[in-house]
Amino acid sequence: MKPAAFDYVRAESLDEALDVLAAEGADATILAGGQTLVPMLNMRMARPRVVLDIMRLPGLDRIDIAEGAIRVGATVRQRALERQADLGKHQPLLAAALPWIGHAQTRNRGTVCGSVANADPSAELPLVLVALRGEIELRSRRGARRAAANAFFTGIMSTERKDDELIEAVSFPTAHAGAGYAFREIGRRHGDFAIVACAAVVDTHKARLAIGGVADRPILRELPLPGSADLTDALDAFAADLDARDDLHATAAYRRALVRRLGLQTLQEAAACRA
Ligand SMILES: Cc1cc2nc3c(=O)[nH]c(=O)nc-3n(C[C@H](O)[C@H](O)[C@H](O)COP(=O)(O)OP(=O)(O)OC[C@H]3O[C@@H](n4cnc5c(N)ncnc54)[C@H](O)[C@@H]3O)c2cc1C
Repeated sequence: MKPAAFDYVRAESLDEALDVLAAEGADATILAGGQTLVPMLNMRMARPRVVLDIMRLPGLDRIDIAEGAIRVGATVRQRALERQADLGKHQPLLAAALPWIGHAQTRNRGTVCGSVANADPSAELPLVLVALRGEIELRSRRGARRAAANAFFTGIMSTERKDDELIEAVSFPTAHAGAGYAFREIGRRHGDFAIVACAAVVDTHKARLAIGGVADRPILRELPLPGSADLTDALDAFAADLDARDDLHATAAYRRALVRRLGLQTLQEAAACRA
């Protein structure tokens, strides 16, 4: 299958890219690592008038670790972040989740911001961003703004990004003293999208668990600490409240059972590795 015809624009500057988005709006689609967009074009599930290639934009290929955050630019490949020195020290949750994304070959091409923009409910990076209460930096001809991860994802493959906006970078808060982090997922095969993925953060006072692959977006909830008497009931309530669905891969009931079981294990692992 070949894509429907489109105009290809390789932007050489951020200004040029923002001009194209301002002029074309929803008729333009951003091309980053192409790992999702190119198959969608080939299957004609995406038929933009303009494909705007951002991978040559200067200055967006940086990973900056400062002021309590890991800031990842729009053209940073997933593999580059995975290989970032001391990533496990700076943010163990990111280091644990990255190897679960697809395969080394897809991570060599796919970008971190592209995964966030794509907003697949089973994707690891949007889940980690929500679990860590990270932020998304958006830019358009109208200016720049920051969006909280928890409000950014609005449904399956949908976000509150405006058509004339580009994700310039995303920020993952770094690990804080006294907190433990853990990530677990169940999929049919390694490299497949998660049937259920769990990201946990536990410190001395509270625990939080984010769930991917169950509802139409990653969902975060604060829970009692592992070891407390009311955790099981709270996890049961969380699993029941999630808008789970049946599909080819698993039933809603199976997903909820995994939230209870895998969720507990992930919280216990995070509690056990509190620094
Ligand atoms: C075989 C295979 C297995 C995979 N398995 C997994 C998996 O297990 N987990 C997982 O999370 N992902 C998986 N993926 C998807 C992969 O992670 C993609 O890289 C990711 O979904 C999209 O990133 P990209 O850079 O390739 O974006 P593209 O494919 O170029 O774009 C994806 C979407 O995001 C938009 N976009 C991209 N960059 C920006 C930006 N800066 N601002 C605004 N919009 C933007 C595009 O317009 C498009 O709509 C898999 C892909 C393949 C091919």
